[in-house]
Amino acid sequence: MRNTADDLARGILAGERRALARGITLIESQRPDHRAEALRLLDLLAGGGHALRVGLSGTPGVGKSTFIESFGLMLTGQGKKVAVLAVDPSSARSGGSILGDKTRMDLLSRDPKAFIRPSPSQAHLGGVARRTREAILLCEAAGFDLILIETVGVGQSETLVADMVDLFVLLMAPAGGDELQGVKRGIMEMADILLVNKADGDLKMTALRTVADYAGALRLLRKRPQDPEGFPKAMAVSALEEVGLETAWDEIRALAGWREAEGHFAARRAEQARHWFEAEVREGLLARLRNDPVIRERMAALGDEVAAGGTAPAVAAAAMLEILR
Ligand code: GDP
Repeated sequence: MRNTADDLARGILAGERRALARGITLIESQRPDHRAEALRLLDLLAGGGHALRVGLSGTPGVGKSTFIESFGLMLTGQGKKVAVLAVDPSSARSGGSILGDKTRMDLLSRDPKAFIRPSPSQAHLGGVARRTREAILLCEAAGFDLILIETVGVGQSETLVADMVDLFVLLMAPAGGDELQGVKRGIMEMADILLVNKADGDLKMTALRTVADYAGALRLLRKRPQDPEGFPKAMAVSALEEVGLETAWDEIRALAGWREAEGHFAARRAEQARHWFEAEVREGLLARLRNDPVIRERMAALGDEVAAGGTAPAVAAAAMLEILR
C-alpha cells in the first residue's frame, strides 16, 4: 500500500473514485500496519457526508442487480451520486463475489457518478460487517448521496445490514398465496418498503395480487413508533421496464424525511454507532485473549476437562474468568 492515509483522505474528500477504491482496499486489509493506516484514514474522514444509507435484500434471481442498475441510473441521471456496497456472506465459501460477474450492473459500473464495490472475501461475518461499516463512512466522505447496501436474502446478513442502514428495502418476486406464507416473518418485519419486482408482461397481474397480499400482511404487523401511517409499505415495480422506480424513490425519501423530522433518524444512527463501538471493543478483547499464549493454553486445558465431562462448562468458565480478573 503506497498511499498514505493523508493522500487517500485528500483524494476521497475530492471525490476521486480511485482513492475511494484504494481506501476500501486499505480498510479490508488484515495486516496490522495497514490497520493502523486505516484507522488514521477513518479519523481524518470522520463526520463528513450527507448520504442516505439504504439496505436492499432479496433472494437470488429476484432482480436485485437489474433493480440496482435501473434505479441507480435513474438517480445518477438526476445528478445524484450512488454507491453500491455488497454484503455476501457466501462469497468466502465460493471464493468469488456476487458482483464478480462483469455483466452485473454493467452500465451503472461505468457511470462516473456511481461506485460499485463487491463483497470482500472475508471468512467471517464480523469482518464483512466491519469492512462495510467503514466503507460506508468512506463513501459518505466522498460525497455520495445514496449508499445502497446489497445483500442476498439469507438470514444473518439481513440483520447485519439492518444494523448499518437508515432504512431497508426488500425485493420480492410475484408469488401465489402459498409462497407468501413461506416468507419469514422476521424479514418482513425488518423491511420498511417491500417491492414486488417483475410487475410486467405475464407476471403483472400476479405481481399486483402479491402486492395486495403483502399489504394485507403488513397491516397485521404492529405499526412501529418511528414510522408514519402507511409504513411499512408494499409496492409493485418492474426493474426491467423501469416502472415504479420514481415512486419507490419518493417513498424512500418520504420515510427518511419523516424520520428525520421526528428525530428518529439521528437517534437510530447514534444507536448504531454505539453498537458498532461496543462490537469493536468486544472483538478486540476476544482477539487479545486468543493471542495470549498463557490464556490460550488454559482455555485449551479447561476445554479438554469440559469435553471429557469432568468439569461442568459453567464451573470451567468461572475458573477461566477468575484468571482474567
Ligand atoms: P439477482 O440475482 O437478484 O441480482 O437478480 P437479477 O437482477 O440477476 O435478475 C434475475 C433474472 O430476473 C434475470 O433474468 C433478469 O432479467 C430478470 N428480471 C429482473 N428484473 C426483472 C423485471 O422487472 N421483470 C422481469 N420480467 N424480469 C426481471
